[in-house]
This record gives sequence, structure tokens and C-alpha cells, in this order.
Amino acid sequence: MSGNSKSWKLPLLSVLLLILSSGCQGWAPQQREFSQELIEERLRRGPLQAVTGTPKYILLEGYPAAYRHAIAEGIDAARNYFGEFGPVRVYVLGRTEDGADSAAAKQDFLRHYCEPRSATAPRGYEEDCAGGPGQRLLDVATSGGMEAYQSLVIHTDPPYSELVFINAHAWGESDMPLRGIHEYVHVFQCSHPEAPGWLMEGGAVFFEVWLGAQNGWVDPRQAMRWSLKNALEAMALGKGLVDMEYTRDLPAAMRPFHRQVAYDMGCWAVTYMIGNSPGRSVAGFRDSFYSLLEKSGWRTAVTEYCGVESVEAFYRDFERFMQQPTEDQLQFYESLRP
Ligand SMILES: [Zn+2]
Repeated sequence: MSGNSKSWKLPLLSVLLLILSSGCQGWAPQQREFSQELIEERLRRGPLQAVTGTPKYILLEGYPAAYRHAIAEGIDAARNYFGEFGPVRVYVLGRTEDGADSAAAKQDFLRHYCEPRSATAPRGYEEDCAGGPGQRLLDVATSGGMEAYQSLVIHTDPPYSELVFINAHAWGESDMPLRGIHEYVHVFQCSHPEAPGWLMEGGAVFFEVWLGAQNGWVDPRQAMRWSLKNALEAMALGKGLVDMEYTRDLPAAMRPFHRQVAYDMGCWAVTYMIGNSPGRSVAGFRDSFYSLLEKSGWRTAVTEYCGVESVEAFYRDFERFMQQPTEDQLQFYESLRP
């Protein structure tokens, strides 16, 4: 898996800019009164929900369907594990062979992307989708840019999730399903009350590794070791989970540390939480932790789930754990139960 590991890492970094806009942050135009309150309420409680329908895939015609299939494999692995949440629309696009992405194909893509965004847009929330966000996706695709992110369209009824994957062919083979897992974990998370950045991104990275390893898409030891190294670098600079408690907007000063703290340290924090929960079970985290979160919010959920007296005490314990020998930490991860 060592060859894969390189391809697993690099694209994560290269798509980072857009991942920054993922989590539960909702897209909404720069406006307005009544609905602002509604948006606030939806974000607080989790704007997505359990659904019966399956994700709808929209592929830019001319872009090879093989990449959509590879991404869908990851999304399906996560759907099987977490259950059906959404609604979800998945957009897969990228640079195509000359002429394959005809003007008609682009128009068709824009139509699929924009129609649901504007179908139930309330007054004041209309947008020039085709000329704005829709065209931006096509521009990124044409320019060869790489993006993978989950975002919410929060002004529609019901709100829905957009999973966007641009130029997946450039990522590396096993990255496609791993990105699929990662973004679908955000769909699950956004169907529950809001939680801090480290739990959102840390959880998504944790399940990339956990479910990815079950499917042979990632070497878990190598991935966890890499996250550990990143987390420890940030810790040495005095950064910690407490710096990633944002639930909406990442503080500008924390941008340089987002990957290392929210994603990598967060992944280890989730590992540590599960390892300190009564059953030490990963499925238990999915079930018990999220039901506690539903009931009492993230702070109480963390303390009750891990049996500590406060989030601050959890952070202190976790920092001590992070100072242990690497081998012990990796074995701690490997000792988690399914
Ligand atoms: Zn993410």
C-alpha cells in the first residue's frame, strides 16, 4: 500500500482549500431577514435528515463515468455504514478530452445543478446560478483545478447536500472512494446538531481510514501515523483542539492549522474518544455519541460519552495521550472494536 499512500496524501492537501468550506457550513446568498433566523435554526439542529431516497448523481457528459463509479464506491460504503441521509446530489465533473464536453453538455450540467437550487428559493434568495456558482464549477473543471467538498443548500425546502468532485482523475485511484467516504460522513454529521470543527473533520478523516481500510483503499497504520505526525507538529506549536471549536466559520488566524488540528488531531481525538468509551466500539460512536449529541449538544455528548467531567478535562487527557510512544498510540487505534 505504500505506493497508494503517497497518492492518498497529496491530493488531500491539494483539495484542502475547498474542503475548508465543507463541514456543515451552508451556502446562502449574502442576505436577509426572516430566513436568516431559519437558516440559523437549521444549522444548529442539523439541516439534513434521514431519507428514503438514494443520492442522485450528475455527471458532466464527456467526463469518464469510471470516476463517478470510483467515488460512488466510497459514498456507498459510507451509506451502508451510516444509513441513508440527505437529500444528496452528487456532482462529478472535470476536464474532458477536446470537444467531449460540448456546449450542450455544459448547459445540461448547469441545468441539473441550478434547477433544484432555485426551484424553491424564497423571495430574496434568487441567484444567478448559471452565471455564478454553476459557471464556477465548470471553470474549475476546465482549468484542471481539484476540488472535493460537501456543502448545504440551505434555503430550499427541504435543504439538501451537494457533494462536488472536480477532476477526480488527478487524485490517485484510491483517493476517489476515500473522498466519497469523507464527504458522506459530513452528510451524516449534518443530519445531527452542530459540532465543532475538530469533531466534524476529525470524524470524517477517522472514517476515511476506518471504512477505507475495510475496503482495502488505505493502509490504516500508515494513514494514522501520518495524521499523528501532523497533529504533533501542530501541538508543538501550541495549537490544540480548543482552537478548532468553531461550528460555522473557521477563524482566519487558524487557517494555517486547519489541516493539522481539525483533520489530523481531530482524527486522533475521535480515536481517543472511542477508546475511552464503555464499549470501545466504533459503531457505538456512530450510535451512542450521535444520540447523545442529539439530546444534549456536543459538549455534554463528549463528556458523557467518554466519562470525563468536562471538555477541558478531555482535552488535557488527550494531550497526555498524544505524548505517548507512537507504537502505543497505533496499538490503541488497532485495539478499537468494530
Ligand atoms: Zn471535510
